[in-house]
Amino acid sequence: MVTKIKTNISNKETSASFAGIFVEDFKAKELQSLKKIKELYNDERYHKTIPVEFKSILKDLYSDLFDKNDNKIKFKLSTNIVDEFENIPENKKLIYLIHRYRYEIFPLKKKIDSYPPLLQIEPTSFCNYRCIFCFQTNKSFTKRSNGHMGHMHFDLFKDLVDDIQNKIEFINLASRGEPLVSKDIVKILKYTEGKFLGAKLNTNASILNEDKAHAILSSGVSTVVFSADAADKELYSKLRVNGNLDNVIKNIKKFNQIKEKHYKNRKIVTRVSGVKVNQVQNFHEMKKVWSDLVNQVAFVNYTPWEDVYSMSENKIKTPCSDLWRRMYIWWDGIANPCEVDFKSGLKVGKYPETSINELWTGETFQKLRYKHSEAKRCNIAPCNKCVVI
Ligand code: SF4
Repeated sequence: MVTKIKTNISNKETSASFAGIFVEDFKAKELQSLKKIKELYNDERYHKTIPVEFKSILKDLYSDLFDKNDNKIKFKLSTNIVDEFENIPENKKLIYLIHRYRYEIFPLKKKIDSYPPLLQIEPTSFCNYRCIFCFQTNKSFTKRSNGHMGHMHFDLFKDLVDDIQNKIEFINLASRGEPLVSKDIVKILKYTEGKFLGAKLNTNASILNEDKAHAILSSGVSTVVFSADAADKELYSKLRVNGNLDNVIKNIKKFNQIKEKHYKNRKIVTRVSGVKVNQVQNFHEMKKVWSDLVNQVAFVNYTPWEDVYSMSENKIKTPCSDLWRRMYIWWDGIANPCEVDFKSGLKVGKYPETSINELWTGETFQKLRYKHSEAKRCNIAPCNKCVVI
């Protein structure tokens, strides 16, 4: 089920690059996808489905994908894109690519439009784990009286989804907490059905029960990422403090059985993604344990996320790609440019007081982008201590 390829995906698996993804037939699938893109691009019927404001993006995308000029910025199909592209209905495939292109290439071109390519929505900031590399280990973050902890109300989630539907095509249901801890998660998941081209859920799968499995499989979620970093129980529990590997595997097997029995034709990509924090973690062992349970197995390289505020200042001048790629809406509506800054020092406003369009294109966010573009991130805390580029 699984093959090997080196690739880069910048996302919450998490703003780091994959050390390796195993997906056996990637090359063949990539060629097939490229062929399909040419076919759709050259068919006038599919151009009619593209909104006017995206027509020029489609042209750029095609050129950045197929142009052989090495000096150009290249749009490449990652394993993830290829797998998702395959699952997208024919009449939506070009739109899907346009949004992937906005996510991957706009940060390189320092370009934004009215809405972020991806909105990360946090169902809850609580987590039942205390992974050693996570900001959940930061006591001043988890101390309730400091105001960072809470669950998103379903009404806020509903308003948000109603506002962004048909404007933002990718959402990620995760940020600082474990989404399945949210008391409204079943309602939240169900409300995403049919509303997005791509919705991702990151979970540690420790409390993935039958109800939640049904909710995921009948929702708009197109990719589920199960976070796990080890193939043996002891190591797993050392990294994912409070976690039990046997329980997680049992839950994922149950999820697969439910899918097989009740949602046989449901197209969903599943991935196990681990954080590579030490040399003991063995990717081949990971593959042995996980490759029969999920479509993809991946490691992301460790970046010190757990407490950016206590790190030393660095000399990085490269702008942070997240600023052109995504925005986070936390459980209480706070809009933040990233989650490395998990105490929201960079907050750009609050939803619904300010609309998503205004938050994304507003003065506060634009000033931040400007400073990064001018190689002045060293004047901004905590960007001056952060290593994300
Ligand atoms: S702290 Fe600054 S540089 Fe780091 S991820 Fe956030 S916005 Fe980017």
